[in-house]
Amino acid sequence: MEDIRDVIIVGAGPAGLTAAIYTARANLAPLMIEGVEAGGQLMLTTEVENYPGFVDGIMGPELMESMRKQSQRFGTEILTENVTSVDLAERPFKVSTASASHLTNSIIVSTGAKARMLDIPGERELLGHGVSTCATCDGFFFRDQELLVVGGGDSAIEEATFLTKFASKVTVVHRRDSLRASKIMQDRARSNPKIEFLWDTVLTEVTGDGKVTGAKTKNLKTGEEGTIAAGGIFVAIGHIPNTSLFEGKLDLIEGYIRTQPGSTATSVKGVFAAGDVVDYKYRQAITAAGMGCQAAIDAERWLESQHDA
Ligand code: NAP
Repeated sequence: MEDIRDVIIVGAGPAGLTAAIYTARANLAPLMIEGVEAGGQLMLTTEVENYPGFVDGIMGPELMESMRKQSQRFGTEILTENVTSVDLAERPFKVSTASASHLTNSIIVSTGAKARMLDIPGERELLGHGVSTCATCDGFFFRDQELLVVGGGDSAIEEATFLTKFASKVTVVHRRDSLRASKIMQDRARSNPKIEFLWDTVLTEVTGDGKVTGAKTKNLKTGEEGTIAAGGIFVAIGHIPNTSLFEGKLDLIEGYIRTQPGSTATSVKGVFAAGDVVDYKYRQAITAAGMGCQAAIDAERWLESQHDA
């Protein structure tokens, strides 16, 4: 056990690192527990062209490394370990890793989310080289190409519709023959001449050598196997927020941490949350960074109010 910290930040994607920069500059000497897969989803991307300030774009991992160094410049202490448990029942809170337990007056949770993946051969290898989990981020790279979008929910249909701005054709590959997406989004997609549907079909392999060229398919009703050519494959089968540590300890909505309207405060006073662990809607590095800043300011003001009390 050590002294009581002002703030511990759990998770080092754009939200957590921005919170670290802000809390460090507010003299709160933050401890960042970054986890062994630090950096979040940007570590799985290649070029990021929509993060403001980088005229020529920047590689995802490089952007995260810059944020990390920037946070250290102001005194953030970084621990590269996974948090194994948190005790939020009383203050100071206790945040434990395999090697130690740390006490803190406030916590910023920025553990992010993972895109659900198909787990088929070729998918991980070609992630960032034609396989993407974010049309908003990567659609621009696929001008005039034929694309696949996998999934039948709102995300898949929204992404397919968005991608028609760039692609010559978008095929939605869905494992059933009816969509789960809302009626209005379905209608929009069905009336879009660039969108086609491949029903009852799953991808069994992403093909390509260094760059996606297509996929192997299987019709689940007939068992028929085939191939389909594509310059890009967008996997849109949902996200999984990284909240297992907080189940039963913080209020969650469909697995995401519930924050109070207009704030990053969670259901436990002194615990704040930011980034994709909260946000099921925008899911952008810049929105996560913005929320990280908000969480830092919320935590700072809350700590201040405790001193005054
Ligand atoms: P979702 O609603 O859970 O849909 C996931 C889709 O992926 C489903 O169609 C599912 O098929 C399919 N799927 C899941 N695992 C698969 C696998 N291993 N192989 C092939 N297909 C698989 O997820 P989402 O679309 O990301 O939406 C998440 C939430 O955000 C929803 O509540 C949604 O309404 C909301 N959202 C709203 C908007 C909007 O309103 N603008 C936009 C995006 C998301 P089955 O249908 O067969 O289960």
